[in-house]
Amino acid sequence: MIYLLFGPPGVGKGTQGARIAHKYAVPIISTGEIFRNLAAAGTPLGRAAKEFTSKGELVPDEIVVALVQQRIAMADCADGFLLDGFPRTINQAEILECTLDDMGLELNGVLSFEACDGELIRRLTGRRTCSRCGATYHIRAMPPTREGICDRCGGELVQRADDTEEAIRTRLREYEAKTAPLLSFYRKRGLLRSVDAAAAPDTVAARAAAVLAVSHGAPRS
Ligand code: AMP
Repeated sequence: MIYLLFGPPGVGKGTQGARIAHKYAVPIISTGEIFRNLAAAGTPLGRAAKEFTSKGELVPDEIVVALVQQRIAMADCADGFLLDGFPRTINQAEILECTLDDMGLELNGVLSFEACDGELIRRLTGRRTCSRCGATYHIRAMPPTREGICDRCGGELVQRADDTEEAIRTRLREYEAKTAPLLSFYRKRGLLRSVDAAAAPDTVAARAAAVLAVSHGAPRS
């Protein structure tokens, strides 16, 4: 299966994607996560990308596209994969289409998670992420048992550098200007599947599972 997880920042693509990836036993490829890992490792590419990510701006297409092309050619993607946060521009989407075609692969669908701006801002400003395992929490909606400590691994919970109010505003603007046009790009291709994401994670997961079951079939157990 090859699916895109689509939607504005803070809509829950990562949270929902992790569940779907587990259910269908495919890897999830998050370009944002790749950039955060490269930056944490202090690589030149990570430092270059951080110039953009820290301000909430999109990283130039050529950098992102090369990373994704390398990643989807890896052995663990042979039975399919989910893309979280890619493509984010029409140019990236067109290149992805050609890349998959060259590899003899086909995009099965685009899960479009939807919520209003107020809800996105509330989620992003309250989001905390484990610095060790990447688990995400929300200070009010999904707090950890002990403040600032990950329930899963005991790691320290931190706020993402781009979850500040100014960077969030830039990210939402970038989404509207450059990424939202992809909705009609994929609608025209008959690939778009909407999921109402303005609800608690378990409810959204059930909605996404129902949409996927119709679009793709149930996971092999
Ligand atoms: P995310 O974790 O998906 O919210 O991504 C965090 C940041 O990484 C974004 O705000 C961008 O700066 C950068 N990024 C992630 N994916 C892409 C992409 N496909 N194109 C350009 N920049 C990206």
